[in-house]
Amino acid sequence: MKLVSDYFGCMVFNDEVMKQRLAPDVYNTLIRTVEHGRSLNLSVANEVARAMKDWAVELGATHYTHWFQPMTGITAEKHDSFISPGEGGKVIMEFSGKELVRGETDASSFPSGGLRATFEARGYTAWDATSYAFIKDGVLCIPTAFCSYSGEALDKKTPLLRSMEAINRQAMRVLKLFGNEDVASVKTTVGAEQEYFLVDKKTFKQRNDLIFTGRTLFGAKPPKGQEVEGHYYGVIKPRVQAFMKDLDEELWKLGVLAKTEHNEAAPSQHELAPIFASTNIAADHNQLTMEIMQKVAKKHDFVCLLHEKPFAGVNGSGKHNNWSMSTNTGVNLLEPGDTPSENAQFLLFLCSIIKAVDEYQDLLRVSVASAGNDHRLGAHEAPPAVVSIFLGDELNEVLESIEKETPYGVKEKELLRIGVHTLPKFPKDTTDRNRTSPFAFTGNKFEFRMLGSAASISDANTVLNTAVAEILKRFADELENAENFETALHDLIKRVITEHKRIIFNGNGYDEAWLKEAEKRGLLNLRSTPDALPYFIKEKNVRLFTEHKVYTEREMHSRYEILLESYCKLTNIEAHTMVDMAKKEILPAVSAYSQTLCNTLLAKKAVCKHLDNTYETETLNEISDLSAKAYAGVKALENALDGAKNITNVTQLAIWHKDKILSAMSELRAAADALEGIVSAEYWPIPTYGDLLFEI
Ligand code: ADP
Ligand code: MG
Repeated sequence: MKLVSDYFGCMVFNDEVMKQRLAPDVYNTLIRTVEHGRSLNLSVANEVARAMKDWAVELGATHYTHWFQPMTGITAEKHDSFISPGEGGKVIMEFSGKELVRGETDASSFPSGGLRATFEARGYTAWDATSYAFIKDGVLCIPTAFCSYSGEALDKKTPLLRSMEAINRQAMRVLKLFGNEDVASVKTTVGAEQEYFLVDKKTFKQRNDLIFTGRTLFGAKPPKGQEVEGHYYGVIKPRVQAFMKDLDEELWKLGVLAKTEHNEAAPSQHELAPIFASTNIAADHNQLTMEIMQKVAKKHDFVCLLHEKPFAGVNGSGKHNNWSMSTNTGVNLLEPGDTPSENAQFLLFLCSIIKAVDEYQDLLRVSVASAGNDHRLGAHEAPPAVVSIFLGDELNEVLESIEKETPYGVKEKELLRIGVHTLPKFPKDTTDRNRTSPFAFTGNKFEFRMLGSAASISDANTVLNTAVAEILKRFADELENAENFETALHDLIKRVITEHKRIIFNGNGYDEAWLKEAEKRGLLNLRSTPDALPYFIKEKNVRLFTEHKVYTEREMHSRYEILLESYCKLTNIEAHTMVDMAKKEILPAVSAYSQTLCNTLLAKKAVCKHLDNTYETETLNEISDLSAKAYAGVKALENALDGAKNITNVTQLAIWHKDKILSAMSELRAAADALEGIVSAEYWPIPTYGDLLFEI
């Protein structure tokens, strides 16, 4: 039997391999450059490249690629082989430091939102040495950042790395104030829980909507939905079990710490959670996880659906982003400490997050906005589109007693002075009861639950890191100049609680009453992507990102355009797929079934005396009405699509898609789904929800 410990990370050029294969001085220079974020000199790069290539070739690799994350949200690679002509018509395997450190690529087909002038189609990729290289399908993959020739980010990794630098800078200032002399750096950590659906490959292939858009655009509710919730944490079926085992093994070889696999609330829905890692590695690993999931699913004759809402009326899929901050000495800064000073520090970091989430709630909402996630946020099972924070009763009580200067204490109650008193530890089971909050404190980390299952986690973490960095900066500015540190600290914490308690909500986030209450509190409720995105380029947000050097203003505008464009493109593909399916599959099937009913009716007429209220007549009438509605729906959708052709402004185009195209789509769907309810199963042209959800 092969032991996990023997093959875990066997496809990763990790620290252990580097130590084995690099000369000590080369290894040390590499580690130092990585730690200080400097660029590597060429002779060291050559040594590293040679060692990497030798290692990869021994493991059967023939090619290498710079592996990057363009704005499409998925990863990109361009394979080059190691071969180079050798003597006597032979080849040798070569890989230089230059090839390792920097790659050039034709960027013209990647979204750039106007950043890349047409005459300058080149982009370049630069090695991110903070994330290990790995071998996937015989290809050495080198994690890289992707920029335009003028140095502007065209990807999701670059801003994330910049945001990690920003929060490191500011968190270090705050830590100094508390005398943490041993700490050299702070990193944010993330564990991204990934939800997904598995459907049978044969069934999948019979549905053009799944093939083209990843979600069902038609489909009546099955007799059994997820009402009984028998699936949640249920026994995993053997075929799914085999898939999960294979998936774990593939991920482990790549050094991904896949930890928990279980069934989710909806039938055929599952979740995979890794052990947390430094944020940029967690982002790389989540991309890999999504890719490997889809690949391994195919091997098991499944298709893995990562769409946020593959089925109407059934829970959608999200991605819970567990987030914290940690020092290089291994201290979790969101863990309440054992001493009064540690607790004061904990409360300050906690307050920085509360303030950041309140002031930048718009950006957090934007960071999870996509056409797919719009069907999920605010729907029954997912957090609402309103951002709020859940703290749990104990912590809430602590904050309240600081704000109101009322006594607090487990044993003897007394006034809580920051820096003097110790707080109790907040046990996870009491803090984690609320599953409806978009942003919940879970004992020693926050869980941001609005992310969609298909998205890269980079955007959300870039926002989170930068927003918290900004607040830490303001805190440090204030406290560094304070005459009396303890008094200033106490006042600051009290002020933050008073000013930002509106963002704290410990109740049920699914409740309608909360939406009204949130509105009263002045919290934003940005229901759709076109509603949310314009907030991205508001002046205060441009100031935030440019001041912390995470985005330039140009980069922000380009991103804004790309996001809107992709919203329109996706909606457009969905609309066309619907028209196509309605015209070529659904309406013809309905028509054929009507004919059968007519024939039967005519035959009956020849022999029967009483023909009122027969199944045939009533159904024919109903079908005739509904198919007229469906056909009108097709026409209306086609009109809406035509109308879009005249709109050139991308913001207006997105609003048109939301208001006109999506609503025409739901009208058409309503008629078609009603037809599905009465047309004979034998005639219905596509697999039903029942087939898709309960077949496995
Ligand atoms: P649950 O399943 O109840 O949501 P878990 O304890 O299983 O909670 O944790 C969920 C995720 O949170 C896991 O991926 C875990 O690794 C991650 N996590 C735990 N501690 C931290 C931390 N300090 N920073 C970031 N993520 C963390
Ligand atoms: Mg969770």
